Amino acid sequence: MSKAYIPKALRNRITRQAQGRCGYCLTQAGVIGAPLEIEHILAEALGGPTEEANLWLACSPCNTFKGNRIAAVDPESGTLVRLFHPREQQWHDHFAWSSNGDVIIGKTAVGRATIAGLRLNRTEIVHARRLWVNAGWHPPEDE
Ligand SMILES: [Zn+2]
Repeated sequence: MSKAYIPKALRNRITRQAQGRCGYCLTQAGVIGAPLEIEHILAEALGGPTEEANLWLACSPCNTFKGNRIAAVDPESGTLVRLFHPREQQWHDHFAWSSNGDVIIGKTAVGRATIAGLRLNRTEIVHARRLWVNAGWHPPEDE
């Protein structure tokens, strides 16, 4: 959770850029019925500035599990790799949805490490995604 004040205009701009979705798990604010958090891609505790280029949207669980980390272990190779960067990398280059849309699959070391580190396939969220798929609300389509 950010301690820095983020002006409303900047908050709105980041929300538009992120299409109202968490940068990691793509959970949509409109589906969960609660605003997402503005997160520091490089954590404030590590010197990450409160500037547009270092800010993105994240859901509360992703932001919490990410904490101050910038890297996590890829479970396939056992190596420490950088977490997915929602501004500099494209989600679909590193992740894909399972055929029924409820589980995120890592396509790269970055994707796999981010899934593990941020627990993108927690039991609760996978269950929720099944409901969202049934309702036709998920997976989100790119605008
Ligand atoms: Zn998320």
